[in-house]
Amino acid sequence: MRIPMHETLNEEEALLLKTARSVSKSFGRSYWLEKWEKKEPPDELWEEMRRQGLTGVGVPEKYGGSGFGLMGAVLTQEALALEGLPVLQFLVTHFSRHIVLSSGTEEQIRRFVTPTCTDGKRMSFALTEPEAGSNTWRISTLAKKENDGYVITGQKVFISGAKESDLMLLVARTKRYEEVGDKRYGISLFVLETSDPNIKMERLDIDMRGPEWQYAVYFDSVRVPAENLIGREGEGYKALFEGLNVERLLIASIAVGLGDFALSRAVDYAKSRKVFDVPIGSHQGLQFPMAKAAAHLEAARSVIYNAARLHDQSGRGLELANMAKLLGSEAGLEALDVAMQTFGGYAFELGTDLINLYPILRLFKTAPVTNELVMSYIGTHVLGLPKSY
Ligand SMILES: Cc1cc2nc3c(=O)[nH]c(=O)nc-3n(C[C@H](O)[C@H](O)[C@H](O)COP(=O)(O)OP(=O)(O)OC[C@H]3O[C@@H](n4cnc5c(N)ncnc54)[C@H](O)[C@@H]3O)c2cc1C
Repeated sequence: MRIPMHETLNEEEALLLKTARSVSKSFGRSYWLEKWEKKEPPDELWEEMRRQGLTGVGVPEKYGGSGFGLMGAVLTQEALALEGLPVLQFLVTHFSRHIVLSSGTEEQIRRFVTPTCTDGKRMSFALTEPEAGSNTWRISTLAKKENDGYVITGQKVFISGAKESDLMLLVARTKRYEEVGDKRYGISLFVLETSDPNIKMERLDIDMRGPEWQYAVYFDSVRVPAENLIGREGEGYKALFEGLNVERLLIASIAVGLGDFALSRAVDYAKSRKVFDVPIGSHQGLQFPMAKAAAHLEAARSVIYNAARLHDQSGRGLELANMAKLLGSEAGLEALDVAMQTFGGYAFELGTDLINLYPILRLFKTAPVTNELVMSYIGTHVLGLPKSY
């Protein structure tokens, strides 16, 4: 299936997309499902990505990366999803290190970011807490200053790939919510080694039909040196929210890539399956929703690319990133729905491997931020409407 938006890529971007796609193609959807069944992380894929320089995409060459900026990360993420590989590990590692790149010192970048490019180290991201939910300001994991470092106590939930990662970007409070006048103040960012014995993890019973898992993470007086604090104490919110926008673009890239993966399978099937003596794809009752889904995927992709380019040029693009997340998550799910309709009853057979895509594509309406919160952002920041909360 052709993707017209790919014609807007320059030569270097097109080459990157091709390289990333040839890696994802060489593993393919069967690898992803096999790893899920065996409950093993996709280490071989990650190693091949490292060998091809893909783990370093989005990080400047001077830090051991492969360059390309956010647009490169978007294309890498999309190329993986286009072959049915929604690799959360790349997304989480990339936007977490993006926060270190934007607010960390040179030394911190070399300690924490460079190994994610050259040595295949992975980084997870720990923000969500059971009590706070979408209200980030209400997190209560506390980092208490002690001597020349911090002691961290608290709990996080839903942390993707926590156990499989080497490093974790932790969002904690250095001042409790009740102690600050301005709710934004007191949010601090730390990089932790996940091997710390005072960090305990529990795998959650969540099934995304892929070899990546979520964890509840418990911090019991975890000692962290001051050198692991990213940015200024208590003022981490700006870097955090900028990083979350990078995350929104990468999520949207997975959603459109996976949506195209589902739709292209439906297109192939609709050309060969004959009912009433003609290919079902010639019936406009199926053809039109497929065409509409393709157009919606391209519209979302167009906003993603524009947001990534704007970010690379000027550091801006926040509003577009939110719109891209909303559009991408809806377009991906719509494409899957149309693909399932095309396959008729066979869509419900596990072997057809369409229904397996539902949990992950549906997730994107809820995580990493719910579409309600995204619409609230657009409503208040773009349209200037009053806030409801
Ligand atoms: C598979 C998976 C992977 C995840 N990975 C990570 C990870 O790696 N790191 C991490 O930190 N977190 C992660 N998360 C957590 C995810 O970001 C949260 O689940 C998400 O932000 C929603 O928070 P919540 O579940 O607490 O929902 P809640 O905040 O309790 O929201 C429940 C519902 O209420 C609605 N709602 C709440 N407030 C408003 C409002 N003001 N206006 C309108 N509607 C509102 C929400 O939109 C939602 O529909 C993951 C979650 C899942 C399921």
